[in-house]
Amino acid sequence: MMYAIHWFRRDLRVATNPALAKSRARTGGKVLGLFCVDPQIVSRPDTGIDRFAFVLESVAALREELRTAGGDLLVLPGTPEEAFGRIFSECARHGSARPAIVSFNRDYEPFARDRDTRLTRLLEQENGVEVVTDRDHLVFEPGEITPQSGDGHYRVFSPFEKRWRAVFAEQRHRVPDRADNPGGRTPGIRFTWSDLPGTGRELQRHDVIDTTRDSVQPRVRVTLPPAGRVAAHRRLSEFLAGPIASYDEARDIPAVDGTSRLSIYLKVGSLTTAEIIAALDSPDRETARPGRAPGPQAPGIERFLTELIWREFYYHILYHQPRVEHEPFLTRYWRLQWDDDESRFDAWKAGLTGFPIVDAGMRQLKATGWMHNRVRMIVASFLTKDLHIDWRRGEAYFMDRLLDGDLAANNGGWQWAASTGCDPQPYFRIFNPERQSRRFDPDGEYIARWVPELAALDKKSRHAPPEDARPNGYPAPIVDHARERKVALERYRAIV
Ligand SMILES: Cc1cc2nc3c(=O)[nH]c(=O)nc-3n(C[C@H](O)[C@H](O)[C@H](O)COP(=O)(O)OP(=O)(O)OC[C@H]3O[C@@H](n4cnc5c(N)ncnc54)[C@H](O)[C@@H]3O)c2cc1C
Repeated sequence: MMYAIHWFRRDLRVATNPALAKSRARTGGKVLGLFCVDPQIVSRPDTGIDRFAFVLESVAALREELRTAGGDLLVLPGTPEEAFGRIFSECARHGSARPAIVSFNRDYEPFARDRDTRLTRLLEQENGVEVVTDRDHLVFEPGEITPQSGDGHYRVFSPFEKRWRAVFAEQRHRVPDRADNPGGRTPGIRFTWSDLPGTGRELQRHDVIDTTRDSVQPRVRVTLPPAGRVAAHRRLSEFLAGPIASYDEARDIPAVDGTSRLSIYLKVGSLTTAEIIAALDSPDRETARPGRAPGPQAPGIERFLTELIWREFYYHILYHQPRVEHEPFLTRYWRLQWDDDESRFDAWKAGLTGFPIVDAGMRQLKATGWMHNRVRMIVASFLTKDLHIDWRRGEAYFMDRLLDGDLAANNGGWQWAASTGCDPQPYFRIFNPERQSRRFDPDGEYIARWVPELAALDKKSRHAPPEDARPNGYPAPIVDHARERKVALERYRAIV
């Protein structure tokens, strides 16, 4: 009996799943789903408990989706080597056929690339199983958006974006196809573990990972948003029905729910960029596409597309320069001097720095597992340029707390703020937290929401509470911004 195993990783959905569609087509729908709860990932310092719980909830939603489609998902504890080893030995013990194909969608993080190379060798060379892969979470993979000179890869965003858009314009018609099952002819899934006599039951017994909300929630520090494909699409529809129209302006105002909040779904693959683009491309949403008059939503759509391209850019950087996971992109900044002031770092994490916009952001992160992009930039700048604390410590804290924590974007965002990255914020442009606050949260609404002890102050005082109006318990600023700005400039200048 010819069947396939689709190994789900960060593509937690059945529909519009390219590698899964391939194995469905090749086997007439006889595909078993596998998800490994890999201790190497679970024990990584950058795997936050909340995000891990959200992944498990997304896995539970995926299992329901698979069951509804007529298939099933095996959730095995262990590394993929162990999981496949167990599957193969069960097959041998029961005289069942091994899978002829193992499919998965490609991943570009250094850890995943090493793992996938090892696994492919193990499956193909040692076990005679065909490995089928496809692109999934990026519209264009590393190597597809390259300078026309043919010289390596882009290091600056604007030319990358320009080239991305040019290639996209040529291939636009193919992008939705990539996300979809080719021609809609993919056979439905109609295969479960019990179709493998004996083997199925044995494997089920190893299926010890309980992914239900009750088992996951008790250890979680925040309220998780609803997981899964249906929830992701609901959020996309809500965003496209309203906020997208003013996204270009509202995206910078943290008090407004003006962004998509799709990052968390993109991270686990309940939804992909290609699918979002296909939805943006629907005829009632005219973009500034050649030959068509732009519709009223065009500025919002174009800006939104730019943000999605930033996501791709950082993945291309991580792929071509995997060293950035551990070191500054601009290597000269290895020599930058950082301070190890634990009490300041603790104040930053707790949202008790005495800088209201910084504190509001850090409290939003702690309470919800998400922080508005503008405020991510402010708090990251504050940590690195006002407190002079190494960006890697901030990056790690974000990975611990963020539900959308994603190596490429997080590393890119932190290195941008610390001015150590590719195409970074120039080191001499240092955010003034109070000025940022007055500009992007003019009425102090966001501050009042997350630092409620400041809500009673008049709107203009919320940005920098005067000493005599400072509520009990709210700290005085832990540093003098003007002074620390000079210190930062001296340290960066010493290197440049
Ligand atoms: C210091 C710092 C750390 C960050 N860490 C992460 C992270 O761990 N994971 C993450 O997904 N994003 C990260 N970002 C980028 C950005 O803040 C989030 O993607 C965004 O806030 C998510 O909310 P949203 O989905 O509503 O975004 P929207 O504004 O709706 O944007 C749509 C999508 O575009 C992508 N995007 C938007 N802005 C960026 C950006 N600057 N860089 C890369 N992709 C972007 C995201 O996939 C996002 O979901 C970080 C930014 C900074 C400055």
